[in-house]
Amino acid sequence: MKYVDSVLEMISRRDPAQPEFHQAVAEVYRSLEPVLEEHPEYEDASILERLSEPERSIIFRVPWLDDAGRCRVNRGYRVQATSTLGPYKGGLRFHPTVNLSILKFLAFEQIFKNALTTLPLGAGKGGSDFDPKGKSDAEVMRFCQSFMTELAKHIGPNTDVPAGDIGVGAREIGYLYGQYKRLANEATGVLTGKSPGWGGSLVRPEATGFGTVYFAREMMSRAGESLEGAVCAISGSGNVAQFTARKLLELGAKPVSMSDSAGTIHDSDGINEEKLAWIMDLKNRRRGRIREYAEQFGVKYSEDENPWGIPCAAAFPCATQNELDASDAQALVTNGCRLVAEGANMPCTPEAVEVLQQAGVMYAPGKAANAGGVAVSGLEMSQNAMRLNWAYPEVDSRLEEIMKKIHADAYAASEQFGDPGNYVLGANVAGFTRVADAMLDQGVV
Ligand code: NDP
Repeated sequence: MKYVDSVLEMISRRDPAQPEFHQAVAEVYRSLEPVLEEHPEYEDASILERLSEPERSIIFRVPWLDDAGRCRVNRGYRVQATSTLGPYKGGLRFHPTVNLSILKFLAFEQIFKNALTTLPLGAGKGGSDFDPKGKSDAEVMRFCQSFMTELAKHIGPNTDVPAGDIGVGAREIGYLYGQYKRLANEATGVLTGKSPGWGGSLVRPEATGFGTVYFAREMMSRAGESLEGAVCAISGSGNVAQFTARKLLELGAKPVSMSDSAGTIHDSDGINEEKLAWIMDLKNRRRGRIREYAEQFGVKYSEDENPWGIPCAAAFPCATQNELDASDAQALVTNGCRLVAEGANMPCTPEAVEVLQQAGVMYAPGKAANAGGVAVSGLEMSQNAMRLNWAYPEVDSRLEEIMKKIHADAYAASEQFGDPGNYVLGANVAGFTRVADAMLDQGVV
């Protein structure tokens, strides 16, 4: 049996109930076959077996009191995938769908993403099945304090530095950091995504969305095309979607959609700066639903639908995993879409990716396109260690340079292995070789 097949078979046998994890590992390992053939030393050192077995997975009880004084119990997790290149690094997700399979897939993806940034970052991911939606601020605070009381035993500025993800924004990071500081009795920057007023980096909120658009601009310009004037479909309406829209507007593109888990709005006149500011207030302060945008601005709202049926030149899935399937991809192709860049992690199913690639649509996998978030988190760690803050243009230009380099490295690797412009191949190979070579240097650990 071929090396990759035997490893995938072993993973399915060992953890049969982890479909998202299997999907992510198979996507990466299958694309690495040409590299593994050229470098038998990776198989000799069991690099694939080691990379897909987290160094540590921690699961813990999170009891907290709701506003009625009743005790509720959630489950907390931290998956520490690898410390080969630096402290474990990756976000925390609070969402009812969170389970070990989803966090292992996210931690696994984070390995290659963090390696692509070239910053000294290991990889991890964590979170809880707690749902912040519909909870009061006081309930969210009590939950975060209980979650951190356990998590604090396993993290630290040189050990593991978590950040935000779905359901963990500025409010949650504040509560988590406050409790960490109280327990550790030291003001180190152990979480990233902090407010710039108390140790956060400027441009961190913008970084994932801005980075995704910088990456898309590089792809377009390599193909002799441009985002200027391009009609763009965006899914989601959270952190990544909001700043994807903002950067698209700055570059003269026309975002026409946003969504949440209940439905999609389509504004054919374009979501301009003013309307985007309205969405940001709706989502970040009033914590409302995207349906209210349709009522406010008199545009179409499609309940339980995603944006992929909307004709567009570029699509930016920025909500969650497996939100764009083969039939959605086919609709995008039929409507003349030229580019799909993933702001979210693994939003396209493997079948959707195949449809896009067969049709010659430029496709950027999340581990490359959305790496700007963790890259600026890495810059936040540097600023914390130096106890100083860089100005906005400095961080933004570093982000832009990092995204250009990730694009160039991924493109070069795709060329080297005979399929120029295949960014799945390029990103996987470039990220993998960086980690795998370091693992060889560090021995059997
Ligand atoms: P937010 O919580 O800010 O926003 C998430 C958005 O996605 C919301 O609009 C939410 O709608 C929607 N959504 C969540 N789950 C589902 C679902 N099951 N079905 C449909 N829609 C859903 O999260 P972020 O913007 O931070 O994250 C979005 C994606 O980007 C995730 O895949 C995340 O892993 C990835 N990412 C985030 C980074 C960051 O820096 N924040 C970095 C790199 C990747 P609703 O409000 O109805 O739940």
